[in-house]
This record gives sequence, C-alpha cells and structure tokens, in this order.
Amino acid sequence: MQSGTPDPDTPRDLLSYARIYAESVDVDVDHDRIDWEISKRARRRAGACSYDAESGDVTIRLTWQAYREHGWRQFTATIRHELVHAWEFQEFGEAGHGERFREKAASVDAPRHCESFAAPRLSLACSDGCEWSAGRHRASRPVKDPGAYRCPDCGGDVVVAHRESGVTWTDAAGYERARSVVDDW
Ligand SMILES: [Zn+2]
Ligand SMILES: [Zn+2]
Repeated sequence: MQSGTPDPDTPRDLLSYARIYAESVDVDVDHDRIDWEISKRARRRAGACSYDAESGDVTIRLTWQAYREHGWRQFTATIRHELVHAWEFQEFGEAGHGERFREKAASVDAPRHCESFAAPRLSLACSDGCEWSAGRHRASRPVKDPGAYRCPDCGGDVVVAHRESGVTWTDAAGYERARSVVDDW
C-alpha cells in the first residue's frame, strides 16, 4: 500500500473516507442531500444508488465486501459511478445507464457499468442455527482458527465453509485438513 492512500479498515472509516472523497469528485451534486450507507451483507454489486422521489433524498449504498476485495483505489471508481447516478436523480428525478449517464461518467472517469464483484470464497456462519454469516475472500484469523471465535450475534460456535468444495471446519486442525484436501483453493 502506497503511503498516503486511504486504507480504511472498518465500515465506519470507509464511510467517512467515501464522503470526503465524494466531495472531491467534479460532479455537481448537493452533498447535503445524499445519505451514505455501508452494506456489510454480501451483495452482487459494489454499490447502489436509490432515490426517494417524495423527499428528494438520494441514498448511496456501498458494499463493504467489494471494498475489501478491490481496495481503495478501485473502489473510488464505484463511488464516482454512484455519484453520477446521484447527480441524475437530483437533476432529472431518474437514473440509468444511457447516453446521459455515459457522458457524465466519462467526464469523471467512472465506469459505465455498476461494478459487480465475485462472491467470497469462504464463509463464516454460526453453527448454532442463528442467521449470522459473513463472507471471506482470504484466510483471515477466524478462517484459520474458528474455534477461537464466537458468533457475534448469539455466542455460538463458528463454522467455516470453502464454498466451491463444500468442505467445512470448526477449528485450526480442520483448517489444515481442508487445505490439504481442497485442490482448488
Ligand atoms: Zn449504475
Ligand atoms: Zn449465532
């Protein structure tokens, strides 16, 4: 990571960096009328922009997992893309990916298409039957040693799954076994 490059490591930090960055993008939007949210659920799209026609409020939702996968520099492209949608909503009450979007997006070097990102390779879940789960792209500490972690929602045991193969484990030894049996990690 280059020095000086933002490297937010919590959703809250990402939110503040995104807002600050957005102000520097040359799109004429009313920043006070934009709500920012970070979605921690795995979604297919890196960002989304929605509009409440009654209140005129625009909401930009950024996907935490996408940032984790892409890193900040690439993620700013998603922010620019969503800002162009925000501009359309504020100016025209609608947004899309047509000619108007394309021209504006090109002017701020934003990708024309909403960026999608790959589903995480690994998932953590609660083995006690509650709804909690989280995706992981890398072998983070909870992935390598789930026995040392508890479900943040109910305190239950954590089970890790390698999605492609369906192999699961609940402790450090299980992780080692999984690494040796899963060919295509
Ligand atoms: Zn879009
Ligand atoms: Zn749980």
